[in-house]
Amino acid sequence: MIYMNILVTGGAGYIGSHTVVELIESGHNVTIVDDLSNSSEIAVDRIGQITGVKPSLFAFDLQDTSRLDEVFASNSFDAVIHFAGLKAVGESVVKPLLYYKTNIDSTLSLLEVMAKHNVRKLVFSSSATVYGSAPIPYSESSPIGQGITNPYGQTKYMIEQILRDTGTADSQLEFSLLRYFNPVGAHPSGLIGEDPRGVPNNLMPFVAQVASGKRKELSIFGNDYNTPDGTCIRDYIHVVDLAKGHVAALQNLNPGVNEYNLGSGRGTSVLELVGTFSSVTGQEIPYSFAERRPGDLPEFYADPKKAKIDLSWKTELSIDDMCRDTWRWQSSNPNGYVDNSMS
Ligand code: NAD
Ligand code: UDP
Repeated sequence: MIYMNILVTGGAGYIGSHTVVELIESGHNVTIVDDLSNSSEIAVDRIGQITGVKPSLFAFDLQDTSRLDEVFASNSFDAVIHFAGLKAVGESVVKPLLYYKTNIDSTLSLLEVMAKHNVRKLVFSSSATVYGSAPIPYSESSPIGQGITNPYGQTKYMIEQILRDTGTADSQLEFSLLRYFNPVGAHPSGLIGEDPRGVPNNLMPFVAQVASGKRKELSIFGNDYNTPDGTCIRDYIHVVDLAKGHVAALQNLNPGVNEYNLGSGRGTSVLELVGTFSSVTGQEIPYSFAERRPGDLPEFYADPKKAKIDLSWKTELSIDDMCRDTWRWQSSNPNGYVDNSMS
């Protein structure tokens, strides 16, 4: 086992913080760069509480290439995991330039500084959204880029292409592009979890806030899809499984650029997820059916074989676990990180 010195961009965020925990627990040394634009420093304290090791945090925007250069100059990184970026699909439609600039410039700044300091290993947060309208299940050889419905998804597609071109130009680079399906859940300690600002866009945090009484009812977007119960089907993945997928990807990097699906291969409908949440937590989730949400695909899930073969990784946790852990996080941190001390 080779222990690495790893830079995690966006490591104070939802998936980043869970990954930092798994990295530390696997013996790696972690430094975080995060501008805290969508996260809290408290998450980094909590990582310290869980693991006994509080990683260093540098709070600045990754687009600041000279500050990033200083961080690389004073640390000898073996690898980078790059989570930092803006991720709200709806906001990206309203503010496309902000999304293209932040997500792409951050990545270019990172690649430039990595090249300067001869850091060749990179794991990147991509998304199943790159598959757009490809037939399901999505495998890594499915076509990408067709039918992406928003600028956020386009940034993932474009960054993937930038990374493939960069990898083609320098055969010593070792890049892994991880295409996440639907990350949900929280660390079983209840200390870290997803802390959306404002009204949650995603299903699970919305359901959790309905369960806690913070929101009155869930609107289910569409019940007339061509699926068994009429609601959309997604491949939900527990964030701890996803975090472990990053450790596996890091430890199995090879020269070249490789794409991996991180998903379970199982589809779950909105109604099934809501039903499981209710039965596992004992909380009632009032809901009503609403119009379809523009841009939603009826159904998608992963073919997860490649990650299993190359990375010896697969999901272990169930939808029950995802609901139980989400509820533990939500009920012990009703206001997320922000004013938890007052709640
Ligand atoms: P998140 O917002 O919780 O984490 C992203 C972190 O990056 C935040 O802490 C934010 O403060 C930081 N950040 C944003 N822009 C930055 C910048 N310019 N410089 C420095 N820090 C910056 O989101 P997440 O859910 O943890 O997602 C992590 C990554 O995974 C993102 O790239 C996201 O697009 C990708 N992803 C997420 C999902 C999902 O459903 N959550 C699905 C697929 C892919
Ligand atoms: N969804 C819903 N109500 C909500 C949020 C989401 O019915 O308040 C549905 C949404 O239409 C989709 C599924 O839940 O079918 C998952 O949506 P989410 O935004 O979590 O993930 P994504 O759209 O990125 O797959």
